[in-house]
Amino acid sequence: MTRENDLWNRLNLEHENRESYRLALEFGCDYFDKRREQSVYPSAEALTALAAFDEKLPDHPMPAGAVLSQLHELGSPATTTQGGGRYFGFVNGGILPAALAARLLADFWDQNAALEVMSPIAAKLEATCERWLVDLFALPSDSAAGLVSGTSTATLCGLLAGRNALLRRIGWDVSEKGLFGAPRLRVVMSEAAHATVRKALAVLGIGAEQIEIVPVDEQGRCDPSQLPALDERTLLILQAGNVNSGAFDPFIPLCGAARAADAWVHIDGAFGLWARACQATAHLTAGIELADSWSVDAHKTLNSPYDCGVILCRDRGALVSALQASDAYIHFGDGRDGMLYTLEMSRRARGVELWAALKSLGRSGIDQLVAQLCRRARQFAAELRMNDFRVLNDVVFNQVLVACDSPDLTAETLGRLQASGECWCGGSEWRGETVIRISVCSWATTEEDVQRSVAAFIAAREQARASSA
Ligand SMILES: *Cc1c(COP(=O)(O)O)cnc(C)c1O
Repeated sequence: MTRENDLWNRLNLEHENRESYRLALEFGCDYFDKRREQSVYPSAEALTALAAFDEKLPDHPMPAGAVLSQLHELGSPATTTQGGGRYFGFVNGGILPAALAARLLADFWDQNAALEVMSPIAAKLEATCERWLVDLFALPSDSAAGLVSGTSTATLCGLLAGRNALLRRIGWDVSEKGLFGAPRLRVVMSEAAHATVRKALAVLGIGAEQIEIVPVDEQGRCDPSQLPALDERTLLILQAGNVNSGAFDPFIPLCGAARAADAWVHIDGAFGLWARACQATAHLTAGIELADSWSVDAHKTLNSPYDCGVILCRDRGALVSALQASDAYIHFGDGRDGMLYTLEMSRRARGVELWAALKSLGRSGIDQLVAQLCRRARQFAAELRMNDFRVLNDVVFNQVLVACDSPDLTAETLGRLQASGECWCGGSEWRGETVIRISVCSWATTEEDVQRSVAAFIAAREQARASSA
């Protein structure tokens, strides 16, 4: 028998005996069973053990079950426990059961969502998600959605569509003429714009010196009274959900001014756009329907698995024409060809788990999920205040910024908190001050989780005080 047959037989046997698939499910479920007790951040031992991965590429095949066992043994303890309810770092979501389950099934399908002809089911679910999201966010009814890896890419796609559309309106077709020698566009954005917005602009050929910055108020909201005069050559970039404070820009005056000037407005709503889908918070997003494009993540507030971001665009043609690619062998379908709405061609079918997340929650479930995250954030703020921590922002959504009596004490408390394994928060700077940054993003966070985390804050501050005494 040839070596080639050896490999085929081995792979086929592994496929048929299902051992590695059963193991994956068993390991995964065991992992979830322990998620509430496991340290929220990996222990020093678990991190040291990762050195086992520094081996050289094996010369020969190895059974799938053995590969998976190593992964579980060394990998699972070295994860941050995001699903356990006490991870509050960055803006990282949890994971919904139906979305995880759908993802597992879709992984067996292994579909390429580039074209309808490659995967009719992926195309159908993408189209369904587009319809549902446009409706849920109450955006102009013909708006298009592209499913991308996250808001970084979504913002890039939105700004690309906007840049090309503004130039086309003044007679310059970027696809034909390129950017060298093109009429100059203006970019106006908030001082508090996310790092990925600056990155997207850099990728698009717009440098930091070319950006007109609008100052923000004490909550991190773009100040409309300081907006420069806009015109038909302007890209205006706003945000729904400041990455530190969670604040929302005042969209009605800002988008209104942009529409009157025929400027293009892009809104970075990575986690905050979901406020629109919740009765208690929808007012924060009033006026976003006046914008031209919106970026949002499903892997944050919605608790869909990584990676899933969405670019929404009022003008379908502007998005599609900016992202076009064609060749004789690329067969477009009658339905939806996902690659027309994104940068990539081959892409995983992330619409499957997005669909499952939306379908399993429904309108009222999404409303409750968002409301619950906000409630836990307010609880966090109230309990921390009662224990003499300073909360520096108005807690309008899921973000809380906390400080102790001095910058040193704040930094030391954060270090102790992170080492405690009880909960995990990141640090940041807010209006020149060192802060601990709390982001409540997981459905799994309970009232008790917040209480336990506040107790961990108090213990960490005590240790910090003792160490400096
Ligand atoms: C997370 C985030 C981004 C970047 O999104 P990715 O999904 O990580 O690419 C951009 N803007 C804001 C406000 C964010 O919170």
